[in-house]
Amino acid sequence: MKRILVTGGAGFVGSHLCERLLKEGNEVVCMDNYFTGRKSKIVHLMDNPYFELIRHDVTLPYFIEVDEIYNLACPASPVHYQHNPIKTIKTSVLGAINMLGLAKRINAKILQASTSEVYGDPEVHPQPENYWGHVNPIGIRSCYDEGKRCAESLFVNYNQSNDVLVKIIRIFNTYGPRMEPDDGRVVSNFIMQALQGQDITVFGDGTQTRSFQYVSDLVDGMIKMMDTEDDFIGPINIGNPGEFTMLELAENIIDLTGSKSKIIHLPLPSDDPMQRKPDITLAKEKLSEWTPSVDLRTGLEKTIKYFDSTLQDKSIQQLV
Ligand code: NAD
Ligand code: UDP
Repeated sequence: MKRILVTGGAGFVGSHLCERLLKEGNEVVCMDNYFTGRKSKIVHLMDNPYFELIRHDVTLPYFIEVDEIYNLACPASPVHYQHNPIKTIKTSVLGAINMLGLAKRINAKILQASTSEVYGDPEVHPQPENYWGHVNPIGIRSCYDEGKRCAESLFVNYNQSNDVLVKIIRIFNTYGPRMEPDDGRVVSNFIMQALQGQDITVFGDGTQTRSFQYVSDLVDGMIKMMDTEDDFIGPINIGNPGEFTMLELAENIIDLTGSKSKIIHLPLPSDDPMQRKPDITLAKEKLSEWTPSVDLRTGLEKTIKYFDSTLQDKSIQQLV
C-alpha cells in the first residue's frame, strides 16, 4: 500500500483520481483549498478509513510523509483562472515549488498536471511534445499558460539539479461527471444549456476545434505515467485525438439530449486557440497498453446523465 497525496483532489479530475487510487488499495490524502473544488465531489470517499482530507493552499508550504504526489491544484476553466490571475500564477509556480520541495525532502515521486495550453494557439497540428508552443505571454490566458510552463521548468530542474523523481503530463480538454455545471467550460456550458432549453452559446463562428477526452481515460494515463521507469520524466501528452469543431460539439449535445435549444453566436474571447489535437505517439509507446477508449458520444451520454441528475437533485450542488 502506498500513501499518495493528491493536491486539488476535491476538483473534477482530482476526485476521480482519489477514487481510483483508493480502489487500487492505496492510502490517499486529498489536499484542497476549495477554490473550485467541493466536498460534494469527494463526500462518498469520506467513510473510507484510508482517505484523508486536508484544507490547505498549495501556495504555502506543507509537510507530510507520502510516497507519491499528484500535483493538480490549479483552477482549469478559463473563467476561473482569469478571475484572479495573480493567484493563478502563484498557485502554479509557488505550488510547484512547495510540492517539489516537499518531494525532495521526503524522497517522493511527483507528477505535474500540465496542460495542452502550454502549446498556446498552436501553429503545428497535431501537437507533439517537442513543439515549443505559441503562447501570448501578456494575454488573458497567460496567467494559466505561463504559470504551467514555469511549473514544467521547475519540475525538469528539480529533477536535473536535485534528483527528484518527476513526471510531467500535458492534459488535453477533459470532461465528465463532477465538472462544475457553471464553471464556464464548453462541455458543461453546452450540456446545461441544452438540458434547460437555453440558447447554446457558441463563441466565434464555432469552427475552432478541441479534442475531448473522457475523464476515466485521463486517470488511466496519469496512473500509468506515474508507474513509468524513473528516467522517463516526460512531458507526455494525454488526450483523445478525436477532433471536433465547437459547432459539431453543440450539434452532438443537442442530438443526445433531444433539446430544442438554438445555437447562438457570441464574441470569441481573445487568444482563444483555433485548433488543438494531441499527438499521442509517445503516450502509446511509453504508457503500457494505454489508449483513449471512450469516444465522444459515449462520454457525452454519461456526462449528460450526471448533469441531468444534478438538476433533479439540487442538494448535490448545495454541499460546499
Ligand atoms: P478543477 O478546477 O475542477 O480542480 C482544481 C482543484 O484545485 C480544485 O479542487 C481547486 O479547489 C483546487 N485548487 C485551486 N487552487 C488551489 C490552491 N491554491 N491550493 C489548493 N488547492 C487549489 O479543475 P480540473 O479540471 O479538475 O483540473 C485539475 C488539474 O488538471 C489542473 O491542474 C488543471 O490545470 C489540469 N488540467 C485539466 C484539464 C481539463 O480539461 N480538465 C486540461 C488540462 C489540464
Ligand atoms: N466555448 C464556446 N462556448 C462556451 C464556452 C466555450 O464556444 O459557452 C469555446 C471556447 O471559446 C473555446 C472552446 O469552446 O474555443 C473550448 O473552451 P473551454 O473553455 O472549454 O476550454 P479551452 O479554451 O481552455 O480549451
